[in-house]
Formats: sequence, structure tokens, C-alpha cells
Amino acid sequence: MGLKLLVEQCTITTRHPFVIARGSTNGYRRAWVRLIDGDGLEGWGEADPSSFYGETLETVLATLERLAAHLPADPFDLEAAERRFAGVAPPPGTAAARAALSAALHDLIGKRLGQPLWRLWGLDPRAAPPSSFTIGLDNPETIRAKIREADAYPILKIKLGTDRDEAILGIVRDATAKPIRVDANAGWTVARAKQMIPLLREHGVEFLEQPLPPDDLDGLAEVHRVAAKHALPVIVDESCLVAADIPRLAGRADGINIKLAKCGSLREGLRMIATARAHGMLVMVGCMIETSLGITAAAHLTPLVDAADLDGAALTVDDPFVGASIEGGRIRLPTEPGLGVRRR
Ligand SMILES: [Mg+2]
Repeated sequence: MGLKLLVEQCTITTRHPFVIARGSTNGYRRAWVRLIDGDGLEGWGEADPSSFYGETLETVLATLERLAAHLPADPFDLEAAERRFAGVAPPPGTAAARAALSAALHDLIGKRLGQPLWRLWGLDPRAAPPSSFTIGLDNPETIRAKIREADAYPILKIKLGTDRDEAILGIVRDATAKPIRVDANAGWTVARAKQMIPLLREHGVEFLEQPLPPDDLDGLAEVHRVAAKHALPVIVDESCLVAADIPRLAGRADGINIKLAKCGSLREGLRMIATARAHGMLVMVGCMIETSLGITAAAHLTPLVDAADLDGAALTVDDPFVGASIEGGRIRLPTEPGLGVRRR
């Protein structure tokens, strides 16, 4: 008997409206999939559509409907299954749904074998770097309150990309001595980035993420050159969706930020790590606002990377799942088979 696909929906709510350079919201509709085999074992995965990449809950549901007829007869047939998903529902605009099915297949094979996915991959969960905690754009009082709430987290990631970035940086630095990272979410020009770089260094920023619009690679090269003089690594996020994006980014950025919602599969995530390493680049794993189901799938990549930003579930107040825990920034992968996620 083949696999049966069930698609469920949930809404998660962030503690604060989450504001970045291009918008604000606090309610997130999510789809999660259940792949059920003939023995009643279930593999789970989450789809986290990003409007920046033209995805919504509706596009996810439509893509899953298209893919339902193309599930593998054998869940271990991962490579062919993922290639078929990308053939039937090619990018752009399909990554979140494909990532959910990829995670569910990986979860299912782990459960069939009775082993956590990280063990099947030969990884040591203790090698995972600590996760940062994100402080979204806000007024000074709320920023200070968020920094107090993030007390247990050793590293903060600050969202910038506004005309009051200098003030925000000052407020954060006055409130905490922790390492900070900055994500401009494509909100700067080359001139603005060059203006900000010395200030970022002065405030002890560890690295700068996505200063420019995704396609401005000449600008990126220029910003990277200036940042290098200040010993400030530049990481790309919106400029880098899949492994094939990496060769042209090498030499123009120091590292990449992988998200399953961008690359569309766990295997593509592994390929991105290998490709970035072949180019001598740093690797970070990030997330959208997600439940612990989506976060746990991404967290399985963390023993292979330099930096993690997996606070997506920690920012919510109604996470329906229990999986990888990111308490105090420390990433702990479950020891149960597959992804090791259960319902709360
Ligand atoms: Mg980012």
C-alpha cells in the first residue's frame, strides 16, 4: 500500500508583532503534512510560506494537491522523490510545500528504522552552534523589553534596514553587552551599507546579513570589499535560495543563510552546505516564523554549520508541537526516531 497524504492547518501567533524592513504581522497560517504508510507510521513536515518568495498558505495547499499524486511508493527513495516533486512543482513559489514533504519523508524513514534522523546522517547534535534570538524592528521601549525577554539567549540578531538604524543599534548596545548580529533584510543601498559598516564594527556586530536587494551582486561585491576592511563578515539570505546560487556569490559574500522554506528540501540543504564549504564560505541555518515541527527539521542541519538562527518557534506563544528545544540558545535535538516531534 502506498503513502497517504493528509494536510492540516494551524495558526501560530508571535508574542509581539514581528516587524522587519518590509512589513509587520503577528498571526501566521501554516500547513503541516502527515504521510501515513501501510503500517500506520506517520512522517510529519511543515510548510512555512514566505510572501517575499510569492508563497502563501493558498499556494502551499495548491502545490501539495499537485504533489499528492506523485508520492514515492517507497519513502526511502528520497533522491528520486525530491527530484520528482521539483519537476511537478518547479520553483519559484513551491519551496515551502516541497520542504514539508521532504521533512515528512525523512521523518518516516527514521521512524521505520527506529533511529533519529541526525543518527542516520551520522551527526553529533552536540556540534550544533548556539541559536541567536531575533529582535524585530520596534520603538525603543519595546526593543528594550524584547532584550530583557531574550535574557536567556547568548546571541541577539537585530533587524535593521530603516532610516533610524543608528539609533536602534545604540539602544541595543546600551541595553546589552551580548554578541549581536545584524540583518538588514535587503533594506540598504550600497551607500547606506558603506555608511553603516564602521558603526556596526564599533558596536561589536559579529556579522551583517543581506545588506542589499537580492539581485544586486555587483553592489554586494562592493559592500563585501568594504566590510572585509573592517573584518565584518557578510552573509547572504534573500540572495541565496538553493545550492546553484552559491558559486556566483562566492567572493562576493562570506557566507550563506539556509532556510528550508527557500531551498525546498532537506537534501538540498545538505547540498548547500557542501557547496558553500567547497567555496570556503560560512554557513548559517535560519528559519521563518515556524512551529517546532519546521524548526526541528532545520535544526537537523545545525551540527554541520557555523551559526544558527532558529528562534522561529520561540517567538510564538501557541506552538502546537514539541521537538528540538532552543532553550537559552542551546539547540537540543530530540532522541526519538525520525524528526522526533510530537504534538503538545
Ligand atoms: Mg535574514
